[in-house]
Amino acid sequence: MATPMTATQMVSQLKKFGIPYKEYKSWRTHNRNHKGSWGPVHGLMVHHTGSDSKDQRALLYNGIAGLPGPLCHFGLAQDGTIHLIGWGRANHAGMGDDDVLKAVIAEKKIPTDNESNTDGNSRFYGVEIWYSGSHEMSDKQYATLRLLAAAICDFHDWSEGSVIGHGEWGSPGKWDPGYKPGRMMDMDAVRKDIKTTISKGKPSKPTDPTTPSKPKPKPTTPKFPGPGYFKPGAKNKYVTQLGKQLVKKGYGSFYKQGPGPEWTGVDRAAVKAFQKAQHWTGNDADGYPGPETWKRLFS
Ligand SMILES: [Zn+2]
Repeated sequence: MATPMTATQMVSQLKKFGIPYKEYKSWRTHNRNHKGSWGPVHGLMVHHTGSDSKDQRALLYNGIAGLPGPLCHFGLAQDGTIHLIGWGRANHAGMGDDDVLKAVIAEKKIPTDNESNTDGNSRFYGVEIWYSGSHEMSDKQYATLRLLAAAICDFHDWSEGSVIGHGEWGSPGKWDPGYKPGRMMDMDAVRKDIKTTISKGKPSKPTDPTTPSKPKPKPTTPKFPGPGYFKPGAKNKYVTQLGKQLVKKGYGSFYKQGPGPEWTGVDRAAVKAFQKAQHWTGNDADGYPGPETWKRLFS
């Protein structure tokens, strides 16, 4: 159960998952909220439009006689592009079975639907996939469907159990999304695919979801080796490291040559200048580095 995303949040999720999308007319404010509530939402309902037409935006936006638009939130074109149609209550789910709704809320196995007693338009996001349902949807449509479901589940922290087909809902005569005449896809198999997409998370590139990018390691501050390494007569790699960092930070003018491993008055003068730049005085700016000098110098 959840408050529906705002239109802006939805767009962010589409971007986050690399889903190609286009905005249609005033989709952000196009809805039927004047006819009833939208939300709390519990899931995504998957539909086919029943038509193979290449541009179904106007139909989904305006609706048909006896069924005013918007007829969904997302139109999914043959090329895999999401067309944003409406945001808010939409005429896509109709009446369905309260037992199915309970199962979706619990993300449990969907029971066989045998009632039409519950308003689905207030409870579901809806995607209308542009194909007849009498054949399979395109590979691009299926790929985008998986990403769209993952994007919505990601926002609400839902599992694949929050995705259902219209044919599972309990609206009489519905069998969408189909794969041949009158036959709904195996929605458990669809959910299994969506589960895989969710577990992979946001793809690095929509075209190449198999190679997720590794997070870059954070630059780390080297550990302060101890004050004994920085005193007259000392010669070690930490003095060189310190000197190089001072040069990096803009204190290179102190070094006529080097920096090198031998601790010299030049190193001390450069450290002192750095400490004074921290507004430190007295012993805090004596030119000998301590842990705090080290930390600030390397951060
Ligand atoms: Zn439908």
